[in-house]
Amino acid sequence: MIVHKFGGGAIKDAEGVKNMYDILRKRKEEKVVVMSAFGKTTNELESVTEAIYNKQREHFLNLLEKVKTYHFDIIDNLFPLYKRNYEECEKIFEKIDKIAGVENNNYDFLYDQVVCLGEILSTKIVSSYLEYKGMNVRWIDIRSHLKTDNVFREANVDREISDNSIKENFRAASEEVLLTQGFIGGTDEGYSTTLGREGSDYTAALLANILNADKTIVWKDVPGVLNADPRYFDNPEKIDEISYREAIELAYYGAKIIHPKTIKPLENKSIPLYVKSFLNPDEKGTCISKFSAYTPGIPVFIKKENQMLLSIVPKDMSFVFEERLSKIYKFFALYRIKVNLIQNSAVNFTVSVDEHNPRIYQLIDGLRTEFKVLYNKGLELITIRHYNKESLDELIEGRKVLVEQKSRHTVQLLLEV
Ligand code: ADP
Ligand code: ASP
Ligand code: MG
Repeated sequence: MIVHKFGGGAIKDAEGVKNMYDILRKRKEEKVVVMSAFGKTTNELESVTEAIYNKQREHFLNLLEKVKTYHFDIIDNLFPLYKRNYEECEKIFEKIDKIAGVENNNYDFLYDQVVCLGEILSTKIVSSYLEYKGMNVRWIDIRSHLKTDNVFREANVDREISDNSIKENFRAASEEVLLTQGFIGGTDEGYSTTLGREGSDYTAALLANILNADKTIVWKDVPGVLNADPRYFDNPEKIDEISYREAIELAYYGAKIIHPKTIKPLENKSIPLYVKSFLNPDEKGTCISKFSAYTPGIPVFIKKENQMLLSIVPKDMSFVFEERLSKIYKFFALYRIKVNLIQNSAVNFTVSVDEHNPRIYQLIDGLRTEFKVLYNKGLELITIRHYNKESLDELIEGRKVLVEQKSRHTVQLLLEV
C-alpha cells in the first residue's frame, strides 16, 4: 500500500487534477491519497478569516467571491457537459458566510473553522473527477478520524484515538483510492483544527505510519529534493538519495520541500519517502530512507527570508548567564516563537526569528519587562549544509554579513538584503 500526497504547488488547476488522475490510474497497488487545498487557497482563506475577524463585510465578500470563482472555474473545466459539485461547493461557501455571521473573538479558532474548508473543497472536487473517470473512490473526512487537542492552528494529534479510528476506517474494500485531506483534523467536540502551515506532508506520513504503508510518495512541482530552492538559486542539482537524518536537518533549517514533522513517523517504521516530479512521474525523484547515503555529497543551500534579528540585553548590563538564559528561553516558549539562529556574548543574546509571526511583538513586549530589546528587520538567513570554502565565498561576496555561525557540517549567515 502506498500513501500518495498531492500539494497545492502541483494541483492548482484542472490540468493538475487531470494529471493526478493519470498518475493514479497507472498505479495498481492499494492507494491512500492525501491532498492539500488547490494552489494558494490556504493563503486566500487566511485573508478571508482576517476580513471576518476585522468585521470588514464588503472586503470579506469580495475575497470569498474570488475563492469561489477559482473553484468553480476548475469545476467548469473538469466537467464541461454535466456539472458536478456545484451545489455541494455552494453549501461550503454558505457555511463560511454563516461562520462570518457569528460573533467571535478567538482568532485561531475562527481560522481553523474557515481555513480547513480549502482541503474539503479540493478533495470533494477531485473525488468527483476520479469517479467521473470511472475510478472506484471513497472520500473520507479526516476530521472524524485524525483527532487532535484544541490548540487551534497548531493542533497536536492524539495518537491513541486517531490510530484506532484510522486503522478501522482506512481499509480499502473494493476501492482503488481512499481520498482524504492533509493539514486538518478535528477535536472531540467536533470542531475543525489545522496542524500548522504546509502540514499535509505530515498527515501523509502519519497515515503511512498508522497503516504500515510500503512507501510514501509526495508529488511536487520539482524533480525531487534539489541542493537549493530553484526559486532563489540558479541551476540546482537533484539529490538522488538522502538519509532520514539529513532530511530532518534540511527541513529544520527551513528547506520548504519537506515539512519538519514529516520524517519522524516514517523513520519510526522505516518507510521510505519518495519526492517525485508531478510533471515527469516516471523519473526517479529523490529517495529518503534508512539505507540512503548520509550526506548528499554536495553543499545544500537553504534560504529563509523576512528574518528579524533580536538583541536582548540585561537592563543593568549584567552577564547573560544560565539563569538569565533560562528566563529568555521561557519567553520564547510562552509565545511559541521558533528560533532560527542563536548567538550570545557576555551581555548580549542575539536571535533570528521569522518576522511575520503575529506573536513576535507580544514576545518583545514580554522580554522588555526584564531586558532591553533592539531589533532589525528585513534580513535573510542562509544555511549551507556540507559547506566548502568555494560555496561560502561565492555566497557572501559583496554582501553584508550580520551574524555568521559555523559548525563542522553547517554554516549559517544572517545577511542584509
Ligand atoms: P506542495 O505544497 O505542493 O506539496 P511545496 O510548494 O510546499 O509543495 O514544495 C515545493 C517547493 O519547495 C518547490 O516549488 C520549491 O520552490 C521549494 N523548495 C525549497 N527547497 C527546495 C529544495 N531543496 N529542493 C526542491 N524544492 C525546494
Ligand atoms: N494547504 C495547507 C497550506 O497551504 C497545507 C499544505 O499545503 O500542506 O499550508
Ligand atoms: Mg506545501
